[in-house]
Amino acid sequence: MQRLVKMVLLALGCWSLGAFDPGHWFDKPKSPRIANYRIEAALDWPGKALEGRETISWRNTGTAATAEFPLHLYLNAFKGPQTIFAKEAAGEREFRRFDARDPRSYGYCRLLSVSMDGRSLDGHFGEDETVYWVRLGRAVAPGETIRLEVAWESRFPRVLARTGWSGDGQGNFLMGAQWFPKAGVYEGDRWICHAYHARTEFYADFGTYDVELSLPNALLLAHVGAQTNFKTQEDVTPDPKRKLNVIWKLHAEDVHDFAWAVMPSRSWSFKSFEYRGVQVLCYYQPENKSNLERQMFAARVALRHGAEWFLPYPYPVLSVVDVPAEAHGADGMEYPTLVTASSTRFDPFALRGEPEAVTVHEIGHQWFYGMLASNEVEEAWLDEGFTSWFTQRALERGYQSLFSSRRFQVGTDAVEHLTYWLAPSVDPISWPSFQTRDFRSYVVAAYAKPAMMLAQLEAMIGRPQMELVMQTYAREFAFRHPKGRDFRRVAERVTGRDLSAFWKDWLDGTDVLDMAIAKVEVREVMEGGWMDSPKGAAFAAPQPAAPGRRGLITLVRRGGIRAPITLWVRLEDRSERRLTWDGQDRWTTFEFDSPVTAAVLDPDGNYPMLKDRLHASYLAKPLRRGFHYWSQMVMGALTGLLQGAGIG
Ligand SMILES: [Zn+2]
Repeated sequence: MQRLVKMVLLALGCWSLGAFDPGHWFDKPKSPRIANYRIEAALDWPGKALEGRETISWRNTGTAATAEFPLHLYLNAFKGPQTIFAKEAAGEREFRRFDARDPRSYGYCRLLSVSMDGRSLDGHFGEDETVYWVRLGRAVAPGETIRLEVAWESRFPRVLARTGWSGDGQGNFLMGAQWFPKAGVYEGDRWICHAYHARTEFYADFGTYDVELSLPNALLLAHVGAQTNFKTQEDVTPDPKRKLNVIWKLHAEDVHDFAWAVMPSRSWSFKSFEYRGVQVLCYYQPENKSNLERQMFAARVALRHGAEWFLPYPYPVLSVVDVPAEAHGADGMEYPTLVTASSTRFDPFALRGEPEAVTVHEIGHQWFYGMLASNEVEEAWLDEGFTSWFTQRALERGYQSLFSSRRFQVGTDAVEHLTYWLAPSVDPISWPSFQTRDFRSYVVAAYAKPAMMLAQLEAMIGRPQMELVMQTYAREFAFRHPKGRDFRRVAERVTGRDLSAFWKDWLDGTDVLDMAIAKVEVREVMEGGWMDSPKGAAFAAPQPAAPGRRGLITLVRRGGIRAPITLWVRLEDRSERRLTWDGQDRWTTFEFDSPVTAAVLDPDGNYPMLKDRLHASYLAKPLRRGFHYWSQMVMGALTGLLQGAGIG
């Protein structure tokens, strides 16, 4: 306990330098604060179970009255094989552990009571037990605020799908995510409160959170928000009801979720530093310490570029949690002011995959998931896609590439390319993620394709315009839950262009841009045969005519997307040409006065989404390929495979 208190004080020491009050962040609320939570919960560490009470204060900002109030009971997704989650997850590699016969593998959330104005309320489950519809007993009018008292108990599953415990029989790590009964979102006159699906994330209103967690004193806690007690050595708050427990008092403002993680304080530690007014706490395990510096640097890269491209990170704290390897499933996840990173112990090539890419990605979520907070269930791409786009750009600025040797580089967009082409034509980006065909298609539609779509938009409108589009979108819609149509409108307004054809192809369609050089030919120009002469017809043997041989190049469009594309050619007479094919037909042939010695389709890289770069260029004489070339090809293929395996 001594040690724990000392570590906590270390962090607080830095705060005391500034005027920051952990219990009061913003004088002026940044969000509408529609759903506010006061939670008291006590953890049964050996049982990985929890008892809690909460008061939800909720304001009806819809346009109609409502007599119902849905609560997410997310942990019920892990109750057994009959849940929607389990059925959808069956067969997915990530979720195999769910089939275990051990009762400790499963989890649940059981409501004990719900009441309002002193009256006990009942209700019924929704699509499955992950949603409970409370009958309020009366209509709550627009503008009215209600207070719901909820008591529950829950048990965490063995870690899967972001939450749960890991370790030996006793467990030595617990991720407390999706752990409390949580309000749905009332928009207009409709409640949005979907069941917990295997391939969806979340949607919630902003608010304030005051959370009191009673934990065994041997545990160290990482958490959303700031801690408000433990101000001095003597100020530890013991739990009067539970010997050896201490109460952690936590506070957060203008966030829409709350999560925490615990480990015995002997098995992890943290390092804190300040970056542009943000207190960053990096939690690490001693055996993974080699990742700590990498994660700390990545946190700086992400905070810097997020602030420059979108808006400054507004919260006073940010925690980065290095999750133990055996808790894979809880890693690589975002919560407001807290992210779980991934680490790697064996990394001979220093690939910028796990410690860097994952940390940058999860912190990137602080903007799209955290501040913009779009509906991830219905429009996952607005979060995962934009965050993936941010990740590749921030990595490019911060590190140049994912892997680089003296002669070989793997670009920061390599993962998105590889992933997109695994399943480019299954589901459109704008499709709700729980309706995608399978996990692979979800990853394409929510992550890889939208990231490439944004790169495609940038190639079309140019970098300065793109930066303006993204910044305008982020600033106008921070804390306002934008929809896809809001982004479309901002992009069209800022660029002054009608982008409807672009959205149709890339957002709402599943066609691909696949144009290639199909054939390069040389045609002898001959002259001869029966020729007219003053003496009548005379025969001359056919022979090559001036100016000599001609070049032909045939382009094909194999994909459904039609777009004008540039072709650059160099001819045998050393002249160069640039021409444009409108791409409307399935094929076209261009003819030149001299044979083609080299050709490149899309030479300016206007189409990052062009499928076949291998057949987008042509050389009459192959280059000499020596040892370096082939060794790098092998290395590159290997790197690509390794990175393709780590999509987070
Ligand atoms: Zn993500």
